[in-house]
Amino acid sequence: MSEKGINGLISILRDAENVPKDVWHSLLMLDVDERKEVVSLARRITEENFGKGVFVRALIEISSYCKNNCRYCGLRAANKDAVRYRLTKEDILECCNEAALLGFNTFVMQGGEDVVQNDEWIADVVRSIKELYPNKAVTLSLGERSDEGYALLRSAGADRYLLRHETACEKHYSVLHPATMSSANRKHCLFRLKELGFQVGSGMMVGSPGQSADELVEDLAFLDSLKPAMIGIGPFIPASGTPFANEKAGSVETVLWLISLLRLRFPKALIPATTALATLCENGTEQGILAGANVVMPNVTPRGYAKNYTIYDNKKFRDSESAQQLELLEKKLNAIDRFVDYGRGDYKI
Ligand code: SAM
Ligand code: SF4
Repeated sequence: MSEKGINGLISILRDAENVPKDVWHSLLMLDVDERKEVVSLARRITEENFGKGVFVRALIEISSYCKNNCRYCGLRAANKDAVRYRLTKEDILECCNEAALLGFNTFVMQGGEDVVQNDEWIADVVRSIKELYPNKAVTLSLGERSDEGYALLRSAGADRYLLRHETACEKHYSVLHPATMSSANRKHCLFRLKELGFQVGSGMMVGSPGQSADELVEDLAFLDSLKPAMIGIGPFIPASGTPFANEKAGSVETVLWLISLLRLRFPKALIPATTALATLCENGTEQGILAGANVVMPNVTPRGYAKNYTIYDNKKFRDSESAQQLELLEKKLNAIDRFVDYGRGDYKI
C-alpha cells in the first residue's frame, strides 16, 4: 500500500489539477485486493454519468493499404503477406446505409494511411455521408495527416477523430516506429485536431514490446495534458509478418485496471471496450464495461473485406451479419445489467 493510502490516491485522481507521476505509479502498482474498491467506484461513476446504456459506433474499415511501417501492425507496408483492399465511396455509403437501418448514430471510418484515399477523397465521402445523414456523427481514424488535411476534413463535417498516441515516451516511440515517424508529430496532430474542434480520442497500446510501468505513467500524464474526449486502450497483440511477431501479448488485467483508473480521472470520457480486449479474452467486452468502459464498436465492414483487416493475429471477427451481432451484444450487455444505447453519444463536459 502506498504511503498516501488508497483513499488519498483516489482523491488525488479525482480532484487534483495534475496527477503527480508518483501517484500514477503507486496506483499502477496496487495489488489486486486493493484494486477492488477503485473498480467498483469506476463502475459507479460510469453509471452516474451514462446510466446503464453502452453507446455503439458502426466501424467501417475502409482500407488495408498503409504507407507506414509501425513495427507492431500487420498492415505495415513492408508486410508482403497482408492482403490489401480498399473500399470505394459506394461501398462506404452502403455500409452507412446498413448501419443507419440498424439504428447506429455514429459511423467510424478507420483505415491505414492509404495514399489513394487522400484528404480530398475522404472529405468528399464525409460530405456525402453528412448530406444523407445530417444528424449522425462521423468519426475518422485515418492516422497522421497535415494541419490543412485535418482542417479540410473538419470543414467537410467530420465530428470526431481517433488517433492513439500509442506511447507518449519518445524513446519507446522509436522502438515501436521507424525513424520516419515521431512522437512529437503524433502529439502535434492531436493538439491540432483539438484546436479544429474535433472531439479527439487518443490512447495507448498496453504491453507493447519494451513498455514498462514508467512508460505507462508517461502515457497517463500525457492523457492528463490532452484531456481527450475519447480514450481507446487495448492490449498489444503480436501480428505475423511484423518484427514483433514473436513478442508476448499485453496483459488483459492491466488493460482493465487502466480502464478503471481512466474512468476515475476522466468521468465523462467515452471509453471503448476494444476489439483487441475481446480478442484476448472471451468475455473481454463485458469485463471492459464492468471496469468502466461505455462504448462498443461493432464492425459493419463487409465480411469479405473485414477478414483482411489483419492488424494483429486471431483478430476477433464477427461470424454473423451485423443485425445478429447487435442482438448478441444486447444479450451480453443485458446479462451484466446494461443495454445498447443507440444515441450519438457525444462528449459532454
Ligand atoms: N492507421 C490509423 C492509425 O494508426 O491510427 C488507424 C488504423 S490502426 C490499425 C488502429 C490502431 O490499431 C492503432 O492505433 C494501434 O493502436 C492498433 N494496433 C495496430 N497494431 C496492433 C497490434 N499488433 N496490437 C494491438 N493493437 C494494434
Ligand atoms: Fe498503418 Fe495505422 Fe498500422 Fe501504423 S498502425 S502501420 S499507421 S494502419
